[in-house]
Amino acid sequence: SAPPPTLRRSSAGSPKHDAGGRVRVAVRLRPQNQEEMVEDADFADCVELQPELKRLRLRKNNWDFDTYEFDEVLTEFASQKRVYEVVAKPVVESVLEGYNGTVMAYGQTGTGKTHTLGRLGEEDTSARGIMVRSMEDILASISPQTDSISVSYLQLYMETIQDLLDPMNDNIAIVEDPKTGDVSVPGATSVDIRDEHSFMELLRLGEAHRIAANTKLNTESSRSHAILMVQIRKSVVESGAETNNSSHVDKSFKPLVRKGKFVVVDLAGSERVHKSGSEGHVLEEAKSINLSLSALGKCINALAENSTHVPVRDSKLTRLLKDSFGGTARTSLVVTIGPSPRHRGETASTILFGQRAMKVENMLKIKEEFDYKSLSRKLEMQLDAVIAENER
Ligand code: ADP
Ligand code: MG
Repeated sequence: SAPPPTLRRSSAGSPKHDAGGRVRVAVRLRPQNQEEMVEDADFADCVELQPELKRLRLRKNNWDFDTYEFDEVLTEFASQKRVYEVVAKPVVESVLEGYNGTVMAYGQTGTGKTHTLGRLGEEDTSARGIMVRSMEDILASISPQTDSISVSYLQLYMETIQDLLDPMNDNIAIVEDPKTGDVSVPGATSVDIRDEHSFMELLRLGEAHRIAANTKLNTESSRSHAILMVQIRKSVVESGAETNNSSHVDKSFKPLVRKGKFVVVDLAGSERVHKSGSEGHVLEEAKSINLSLSALGKCINALAENSTHVPVRDSKLTRLLKDSFGGTARTSLVVTIGPSPRHRGETASTILFGQRAMKVENMLKIKEEFDYKSLSRKLEMQLDAVIAENER
C-alpha cells in the first residue's frame, strides 16, 4: 500500500537546528472572542498568518500588509500540546542536560499569556499550559533517588519581589554571586517537588496568593510579572561506572551534578498605560511597570544591536533575567496577539518586540560541577568495605 502522505514543511534548515544560542521567538494568535465577533464583524482582518512560511502579515491599510518572519507562527487553531512542543520542549530538554532555560510570554493583556503558560487544565488535561507540561517532562526524566527538583514562585510588582508561596515574605532580595555573576533569590520559599500532584498544589496556592495580594493592593494581576523558578539537580557519573565490588578503590569515579535552572515568566501586560487620567497610585504604578518592561525592551534593543552597554541593572526584572538575554541560557519567547483591528497599534508593538528579541544571541553554557557529596558518600562506603575486609 502507498505510504501516508507527509506534511508539507518549509524546506532547508528548520530554525530549531539553526538557532544555536539565539533567542527563539514564536507568535501566537488568540482566537476571536464573542465580543470581537460582534464588534469587529464589519472590519477587514487585521492579521493574516502563513504558518508554513512562518510568516505573519499585519494590515497597514486597505491595500497593503507588512510581513514579518518568526521562528514559529502559531495560529488560533494551535493546540496547547503543539504550543508546548514548539515553544518550551526544546528548552526543557536543554535544562535536563544542565543548561539554564527561560520561557517567557509577552503581549497585551487578554491575548493569552496566562492561557499559554499557566493554565492548569484541571477540568480538561488537553488545556494544560506550559508550566504543567514542562513539569510532567521534568518529572519523567529524573531519578528520585539521586536527583531533585525545587520550585519557587514569585510576583514582581512595582520593583518589589513578593513570594507567592508565602504572603508574609513580600520583599525578596536578588543576590548576585560576585565570582560567577549568577543571580539567585535565596530568600524565596523553595519547595521540593516529587510528583505532579504537589506541583499542581503549589501552582494553585501561588495563584490564590496572587489574587489575594492584588486585591489587597487594589491592582490587577495583569500589572505584575509572575515568575516560576525550577531548580533541577541531576547526578551524572562520568566514567568508571558504579561497580558492585566496593572494596576496590575506583579512581576513575567522577560524580558530577548538573544544575539546570528553568524559569517561566508571565510578564505584565505590555499595553501602554495612558498617563492622562492616571493619578496617584495608578500613575506611580504605571511608571513602575513601565520601568521593568521598558528596561527589558532597552536591554533587548541593546543586545540586538550589539551595543557595548546593556542596561541590565536598571530594573529587578532585567537583573532576574540577566542569564536569559545575552547570558548562557536557552531562551524561548512567545509573543501573544489578538485578532482585533481595534488593537492594531498594540499588536504592531508586540510584533516589533518579538522581532528584536530574535536578534539576541546567548552563549549556551552547561552548568555542571563536581559532586563532592556524592564522592564523599562513595569514599565512605569504600573505606567501610576495606575496614570490614581487614577485620575479617
Ligand atoms: P493574558 O494573560 O495575556 O492577559 P489570558 O491568558 O488571561 O490573557 O487570556 C484571556 C482570555 O482569552 C482567557 O479567557 C483565555 O482563556 C482566552 N484565551 C487566550 N488564548 C486562547 C487560546 N489560544 N484559545 C482559547 N482561548 C484563549
Ligand atoms: Mg495573564
